Amino acid sequence: MVVVLVPFTVFFGTSGNPVLVAITLNLIAVSLAISVILQSYYRDFIALNKSRSELQRLHDEVVHLADSDSLTQLANRRRFFSELNRRLTQTVPTSQRVTIGVLDLDGFKGVNDAYGHRAGDQVLIEVGRRLRALAKDFGCIARLGGDEFGVIISGERSDAELRVIGLTMCMALREPYNIIETQVQLGASVGFASAPDAADTSEKLYECADYALYYAKNHARGTATLFTADHEGEIRELSLVDQTLRHINPRDELSLAFQPIVDVETGRIAACEALARWQNPQLGCVEPTRFIRAAERSGLIGPLTDLLLEKALVSTIDWPSDMRLSFNLSTYDVTSADSAERIVNIIHASRVDPARIDFEVTETALMQDFDRARASLEYFKNFGVQISLDDFGSGYSSLSYIHKLPIDKIKIDRSFVIDIERGGNGSEIITTIIALCRSLELECVVEGIETSAQVEILRRLGCRFMQGYHFARPMTAEKLRHHITDNNRVKRIAA
Ligand code: C2E
Ligand code: MG
Ligand code: MG
Repeated sequence: MVVVLVPFTVFFGTSGNPVLVAITLNLIAVSLAISVILQSYYRDFIALNKSRSELQRLHDEVVHLADSDSLTQLANRRRFFSELNRRLTQTVPTSQRVTIGVLDLDGFKGVNDAYGHRAGDQVLIEVGRRLRALAKDFGCIARLGGDEFGVIISGERSDAELRVIGLTMCMALREPYNIIETQVQLGASVGFASAPDAADTSEKLYECADYALYYAKNHARGTATLFTADHEGEIRELSLVDQTLRHINPRDELSLAFQPIVDVETGRIAACEALARWQNPQLGCVEPTRFIRAAERSGLIGPLTDLLLEKALVSTIDWPSDMRLSFNLSTYDVTSADSAERIVNIIHASRVDPARIDFEVTETALMQDFDRARASLEYFKNFGVQISLDDFGSGYSSLSYIHKLPIDKIKIDRSFVIDIERGGNGSEIITTIIALCRSLELECVVEGIETSAQVEILRRLGCRFMQGYHFARPMTAEKLRHHITDNNRVKRIAA
């Protein structure tokens, strides 16, 4: 404008011709108007551009927030699955192996409960830091929620390599954590599953890894477990049992068998253990270990325990008043906040004296959430129920926690009884456990006694309470009534 307008204005403005001067003035006015309009367009354009880059920044931030875990700064569950889906589609043509791991901390809830959420957050941040440092060598780490972490392993890895990776992660997380004013120690277990062997979709692959983790937690805590064809069979079986269990009327199909626990000093039945039985038209007789596990995994166990306990208490009413009821509780029953209260209400409503009841809990159940379990056991104890530690010796057998729990009895696992006749080290272990029970003033019951020779050996070792096929197999409530009468008559005659 300046280049054209200045010489034009000078030339026509000084011409002295009024028409040309008027044209010049008009041109100046139009040029100014155009420049104002252009200026305003330019300003709008700059503002638009600015807001676009701001928008892009905000978009990037939202994507980052949506994809990452704000506490640990690791990828989150959403990102984990989108990354997994991406890798699975990429590797379809090559059928290359994609492995994921699901890792869970052992004892994290205890830290949260004992030291508060701030301490819990510090632990999670540190876990995230340790895993990130390790993961740079083998893949992508994500926090899937709570104290559960996921890892996508890059590249083809053999089973042995996966085990090493898993163990490295578990070991790294076992190192102490400095939180607030103290130091805590945790454990970790991990389950691995590989596509395409285990599954070909992200959801199924996750389910498999989660099952492997569940297996690790119950059988090899603190280590890595790889999902195998055996686990696949177990999952199929569990889901069949689970599906059937959902569609039955448990009151009709579930029943109880009772097995006496004998006081060998008097020969009388000191207690009876209630053992769940399920007879189904399609599946036949399903073992309790199988359907209790399925019910635990699918969240059906709460109502199932209630029903079985109600049935057991009804039978107890007919028994001699000095005979106790021993009832098995599952992991869920001792680790969920409201089930303890429900269980106590059922006993209260039954009018059976709580002092006649023993709750059997396993070490595995207690270790799932030690603090919660301890709180539930204390609640039961305050109500008057006694606690037995079932299958002692078959799990962690960490003696250190026994004195921290309100336990009254220990039931020695039958695996130790099997080899005492053969002179195996079962008798030494039993002797040690009996000595332990004496010093802690706990009662001791030995399970799984099948022969009179075993009874004699155990008697010499100082065992007083015994249970097993040698005395009686589990039987219906009806048969038990006759059994009690016969047993007591024999004892009276002998006396
Ligand atoms: P457990 O509580 O350790 O029960 C003892 C198991 O050993 C029973 O198996 C019993 O039949 C078996 N047994 C008893 N004496 C002998 C013997 O001399 N030799 C052999 N070989 N076995 C013997 P069962 O009834 O199959 O129960 C298995 C497990 O299922 C129980 O182990 C318990 O953990 C669980 N369970 C059973 N009923 C219930 C229940 O109502 N609730 C819960 N949560 N778990 C239950
Ligand atoms: Mg038991
Ligand atoms: Mg047992």
